[in-house]
Amino acid sequence: MKAKSSMGRLKRYIYPFRFFIALTLTIKLAGAVAELFVPYFMERILREGTVPGQQNRIYSYGALMILCAGLCLLLNITANRMSASSSGKITRKLRYDLFQKLNSLSARQMDKLTVPSAESRLTSDTYRVNEFLARGQRLGIRAPSLLIGGVIMMIAMDAGLALVPLSLLPIIALSVWMITRKSVPLYTREQTVLDDVVRVVQENVTGVRVIRALNKAEFERDRFDEVNDTLTRIDVKAGSISALNNPIASLVLNLGLTAVVVVGAYRVSGGGTKPSVIVAFLQYFVMILNALLGVTRIFIMASRSTASAHRVADVLDLPEDFKYDPVQDQPAEKGPVPHIEFRDVSFSYSGVGENISHLSFRLFRGQTLGILGTTGSGKSTIINLLMRIYDADSGEILIDGKNVRSYKKDELSSLFGTVFQNDFVMENTISENIRFFRPLEKDGISSAAQDAQALEFISGKEGGMEAPVAIRGSNLSGGQRQRLLIARALAGDPDILILDDASSALDYRTDALLRHALQKNHAHTTTILIAQRISSLRHADWILVLDDGKVIGSGKHEDLMEQCGEYRHIAETQMSVGEEAGE
Ligand code: ATP
Ligand code: MG
Repeated sequence: MKAKSSMGRLKRYIYPFRFFIALTLTIKLAGAVAELFVPYFMERILREGTVPGQQNRIYSYGALMILCAGLCLLLNITANRMSASSSGKITRKLRYDLFQKLNSLSARQMDKLTVPSAESRLTSDTYRVNEFLARGQRLGIRAPSLLIGGVIMMIAMDAGLALVPLSLLPIIALSVWMITRKSVPLYTREQTVLDDVVRVVQENVTGVRVIRALNKAEFERDRFDEVNDTLTRIDVKAGSISALNNPIASLVLNLGLTAVVVVGAYRVSGGGTKPSVIVAFLQYFVMILNALLGVTRIFIMASRSTASAHRVADVLDLPEDFKYDPVQDQPAEKGPVPHIEFRDVSFSYSGVGENISHLSFRLFRGQTLGILGTTGSGKSTIINLLMRIYDADSGEILIDGKNVRSYKKDELSSLFGTVFQNDFVMENTISENIRFFRPLEKDGISSAAQDAQALEFISGKEGGMEAPVAIRGSNLSGGQRQRLLIARALAGDPDILILDDASSALDYRTDALLRHALQKNHAHTTTILIAQRISSLRHADWILVLDDGKVIGSGKHEDLMEQCGEYRHIAETQMSVGEEAGE
């Protein structure tokens, strides 16, 4: 059945609840049977209770009728609660696993999936699955049983008269089928467009300052308008197609009821049937028609949730991208083992063109590497490869002579203290922002803050270390945010410190103080420093000048000044700006 295939890929989540669900469905079936007997006993009351001398049958059948109605109510309530409970638990586990999986995806997988799509899979798609599981259990057995049971009861009571309402059923079945066929693809598409809406909103929220600053609000509004319009169009179309369902159903209902009464009246006067049967028929016909609409709803829901179930399962079934994958490296060259080594590394994000080509360098423990280059030249990419956020396409990256692929994930990440470009500050206290949920001592935190030149501004804040930081650090200045992030990177006393554009908002003096503190208190930390300003990295032991993923110069500051035209050019430009600024 369609309902089953729609959840097929999530079978392992439903499986542990199979007995519970089977019990729920059995209770539902019992409820439906009880419901089917209500009109039956009513017919008996009308037929037998009206015969003189048999009035007491009114009471006995009446009691049975009330019993059936009460039973039906009780069983349905029980089963509905059970279905809510099992589907809730299934969805909870599903959502939990999906969240875990999303966290474990590699950057490459996330690039492909996109964040908004991940968000809507986690929210609206799991919700749809939940809705289907819950309502599917409620209607899945009940509607077909009432449909089939109702037909059987009518035929059993008066097969001839049953032909009248039953002949109308194909009409409504056909119209329902046509309507469903048209509306289901629309509902599926609606989900994709909803992704777009979330994406636009998300981009807008993240970039709200830039958008306002650049006066792009109108442009953004238009962009939102566009996706919003598309969504509305689909919604209206799907809605107006589905809206035909109920009027057509009530037309058929009224036609059927009239036909039953008219034909029934003829049969009564001809002695073919009893008036009581007509009354029961009227009830069964309403029941059957509602059941038919219920079956349709299940189909619509099944196809809507199929798309959602697939979207959830697609993520859950993604293979683990970053396997712990010990590789046999080329034996190291003679001499001391470098702390960090890149051997002829090439990499491309998209597979078209190279973002890093044939990069090689060696860095010994305690040394500092400076990386300089125009925007988009691949500086942050080097960090991404070193930290194994992406895997290199070719070449080897070694830390302590061991390929980064041979490190366990935690082992690798524990080596680094990193300030990423556009790193984030969270809504919490200053000290927690530095500690970042690691088991660090208070002293370590304040010395990290001191080295990061952050103590001064922290003690100026009310509450000092315990002062609150607002969402995204909006109550801090750019320079304060950077210092806080540097303190966070230093606080774990990492083996390798990475500062990607972390000193851009620091003034020259603070920048120099930071450098001295690093030299003094973190002498064994190997540092990679990405900066726009030559003054930040002129003291580095080794400097790489990048252009379009290629190294166009490498060496110490003095050598580069002599040998690398680009470097000299940048240095001269910055120096003249510095002189003009009176430095
Ligand atoms: P900046 O100084 O502006 O930070 P960068 O030197 O750090 O620049 P990278 O971030 O390393 O530059 O990017 C190098 C190139 O790779 C750029 O052309 C960029 O467009 C591309 N790129 C970066 N990240 C991705 C990604 N996730 N998917 C596809 N391309 C990317
Ligand atoms: Mg960068």
